[in-house]
Amino acid sequence: ERERGSFERLHPGSRELYERSGTSLFGGVPMSWMMKWSGGFPVFAEKAEGSTVIDVDGNEYADFCLGDTGAMTGHAPPAVAETVGGQAARAITTMMPSPDAPIVGEALSERFGLPLWQVTLSATDANRFAIRMAREITGRPRILVFNWCYHGTVDETFAVLHEGRVVARPGNVGPPVELERTTRVVEFNDPEALEEALSHEDVACVLAEPAMTNIGIVPPAPGFHETLRDLTRRHGTLLVIDETHTISTGYGGYTREHGLTPDILTVGKTIGGGVPAGAFGLTREVAGRALARKDADYVDVGGVGGTLAGNALSVAAMRTALTQVLTEDAYRHTVPLAGRFEEGVREAIARAGAPWNVVRLGCRVEYGFSPDPPRNGSEAAASHDDDLETLLHLYALNRGVLITPFHNMALMAPTTTEAQVDRHTEIFSEALDELYA
Ligand code: PLP
Repeated sequence: ERERGSFERLHPGSRELYERSGTSLFGGVPMSWMMKWSGGFPVFAEKAEGSTVIDVDGNEYADFCLGDTGAMTGHAPPAVAETVGGQAARAITTMMPSPDAPIVGEALSERFGLPLWQVTLSATDANRFAIRMAREITGRPRILVFNWCYHGTVDETFAVLHEGRVVARPGNVGPPVELERTTRVVEFNDPEALEEALSHEDVACVLAEPAMTNIGIVPPAPGFHETLRDLTRRHGTLLVIDETHTISTGYGGYTREHGLTPDILTVGKTIGGGVPAGAFGLTREVAGRALARKDADYVDVGGVGGTLAGNALSVAAMRTALTQVLTEDAYRHTVPLAGRFEEGVREAIARAGAPWNVVRLGCRVEYGFSPDPPRNGSEAAASHDDDLETLLHLYALNRGVLITPFHNMALMAPTTTEAQVDRHTEIFSEALDELYA
């Protein structure tokens, strides 16, 4: 009640805008599922620069949500803003490739190690196209995902295990099809279940994050990736790795940092520096197999693109974000800062005697409400506490720190400062002390 009261007092402008937008926008605001964020109505942003957001009531936040990774570059990095401004003055969308296209392809290849790329407007699109290609190449109907995964609003992935059956993930619109026809679901870190599911030889691809990041962070158990790679190869299933969030791990994502070799890699969010952008990369073998199924001179791969996918603005933003912002140097700044936050959180948890854990993936840190990090989606879901999470987010919001809705996650950008990290740690500690006093 106290925190809700403070929230109401601090946000009269947001409340007014929310009342107005509710009359014309279905669900109240764009991305209405973000409503959960705070105390009854969403905070409307006025300005976002570097690691700071200012809302319409003039409240300032140290931002550790960073557009849920969409702005892991920091908000509006000057290099990206300048590129976008310049590009907008020249051309935005033409259906023709812009001169930045080969630079983006080369930058993605150099970063992630896969030789051939295609651009999309979002990570969701990258995943949809990856799945479609995997089905085309293998001639198989199903995909496999891990329980409680999230890969964007992709129909086949909106699936969870319930009493051993694959059912629709609760709380979503769709999917429109019987999920058991499209999707197998097993727990992360369960090699036996994975082997059984793949042994039917009807799975076109496994679509996986290298470490789950959308139900808290669930790290891979030692040896699980090796098993995953080995089993997918043995059963003729392609391995699609979604690095959209795990790009936090390091310059070349989790795959490069830890030596996992996918057949297809998908990524989105931050690679456009905040401008809509996504991409998927293929091995030469996968690309060759895709083309081999068509006429010999078929180079126009239909079914995997969109009118605006390669628009000059996105491609320009990708070029600058990849080559000038998300650099090795940037990670040398953000990863230690995340380590600093992780340590602070760990100390606060120990001091308060809270049965909580903290996990870090490069510049991404998340705490969870169980003594040890979860080993799979079910364990993570069981330890989830909506009320506690909302209270902590509101507590932080009321004190000028923004964290991601649906996650107890803190992400560091090249613009994040030690002072912001320490302030966040302090607020986290105070909240814990109040809860466990
Ligand atoms: N993949 C992962 C791992 C994600 O977490 C998300 C979004 O949270 C997506 C894909 C989809 O990204 P977008 O909603 O930007 O398409």
